[in-house]
Amino acid sequence: MHTKVPNLINGEFCESRTENYLDVTNPATQGILARVPMSTTDEVQAAVQSAKARFATWKEVPAPERARLMLRYQHLLKEHHDELAEILSQETGKTFADAKGDVWRGIEVAEHACGIATLMMGETVENVARDIDTYSLTQPLGVCVGITPFNFPAMIPLWMFPLAIACGNTFVLKPSEQDPMTPTRLAELFLEAGFPKDVLQVVHGGKEQVDQLLTHPDVRAISFVGSAHVGQHIYRTGTDHLKRVQCMTGAKNHMVVMPDANKQQVISHLTGASVGAAGQRCMAISVGVLVGEAGEWIDDIKANLEQVKPGLWNDEAAGFGPLISPAAKERVLELIQSGKDQGAQCLLDGSSYTHTDYPEGNWVGPTLFGNVTPDMRVYQEEIFGPVLLLVQVDTLEAAIELINNNPFGNGTSIFTASGGAARYFQHHIEVGQVGINVPIPVPLPFFSFTGWKNSFYGDQHAYGKQAVRFYTETKTITARWFDNDAVSGPNMTIQLK
Ligand code: NAD
Repeated sequence: MHTKVPNLINGEFCESRTENYLDVTNPATQGILARVPMSTTDEVQAAVQSAKARFATWKEVPAPERARLMLRYQHLLKEHHDELAEILSQETGKTFADAKGDVWRGIEVAEHACGIATLMMGETVENVARDIDTYSLTQPLGVCVGITPFNFPAMIPLWMFPLAIACGNTFVLKPSEQDPMTPTRLAELFLEAGFPKDVLQVVHGGKEQVDQLLTHPDVRAISFVGSAHVGQHIYRTGTDHLKRVQCMTGAKNHMVVMPDANKQQVISHLTGASVGAAGQRCMAISVGVLVGEAGEWIDDIKANLEQVKPGLWNDEAAGFGPLISPAAKERVLELIQSGKDQGAQCLLDGSSYTHTDYPEGNWVGPTLFGNVTPDMRVYQEEIFGPVLLLVQVDTLEAAIELINNNPFGNGTSIFTASGGAARYFQHHIEVGQVGINVPIPVPLPFFSFTGWKNSFYGDQHAYGKQAVRFYTETKTITARWFDNDAVSGPNMTIQLK
């Protein structure tokens, strides 16, 4: 019998009554780690109802008390950092170092949520008219929902529920069915921190459970991170049901390499940013755009990539782990084949890579394509595998035009020694997160995660000040206090004088 991943409903971890379970597997061995339920309609309903009931009292808890609980939570997360990373490594295949990074980037958001009182401050203007003041309050919305992807099972749930809950909302999390054990452990620690039991609910499932949440009349806001086509469905359905929705979605990130850049830095960062985490990062660099003479560095890029070997999560020599599932591997192999068929030059082919001790794993080795053109499927689709494409252009303007014509706009970077080139790039590029000699420019939590174009649907972005705005409503008060109770007949004017 395998462990059944429990739901967290009404403050209790409970086994689902469904008969429909999926296996959670170790991607390096296909060994079954646990089974995850496709929760019943009643269970999803119960989670939302419980969250709704708790909202009435949780929103009245003073902000400093909410912050104090969050301080305890971030401390517990740090105490359990290695343990969380180990669970995460086993269900995702990520190397231990990478898994620790996944947990850490989430902890940083929980830390930031500890400053919630300051983050929720409103505005005041005294004397907007004689003896009249206007000030604004930020108040929580109610039940918020988070739907998260497989590739960061600690960081991305932690992008969402700590801030939403610190703002005074209650939260229903629907984690990825592919790696639900890490989010479940995050929820256990959350209860251990002393939060009221039913402020956070966790229901497991897939499309059916998500759709129930998207259309539930008591859900006020939905945060989604995942692929673009699912994000479009979430955005359309959620907004059609008059909810506030933010969707952080897919990507195709380019790194522009100017010929004046530090070559060794470029090669080292291009390798890590493209095949690290087996390319399963929404901010992974999947296209290197070599400008002018930087095109002569292709052999060195290949030689560096060739040295990276996939391996087990606890193998310190491993550069990255297996892909999340056999289906993901099949998809990546099919895209690699399409690149070959459409005339890209396959300089390094990881399709047949296998691990001698763990041949069952979803392994794909580092793969490099040259002579890539924008009409090819490898360029048009998010591969989400350890595959780097190289495109050569003559000028920085041509590189910018290529990137701006791409429908995604999550992240990009430029490597150069020229401040002028970098400034020109940062101004003209139509991408929401830009690195200058920084390959994966994920902003820390006091900023927000600001993907553009098809990498984001919504208005307010993930974490930081924008997320506080997303999870709250502004109430604006205009107040006058009379110093006597004289009434001089009805006042029919709406103007403030
Ligand atoms: P996914 O879209 O398949 O799944 C995401 C979530 O949606 C899961 O919880 C899943 O159960 C649910 N889901 C799947 N299909 C659904 C459907 N038809 N209707 C309703 N819900 C559905 O994504 P994934 O494969 O888990 O994650 C990888 C994707 O996430 C990549 O495209 C990656 O770029 C993206 N991502 C984006 C960011 C970002 O910040 N922009 C961050 C991480 C990952």
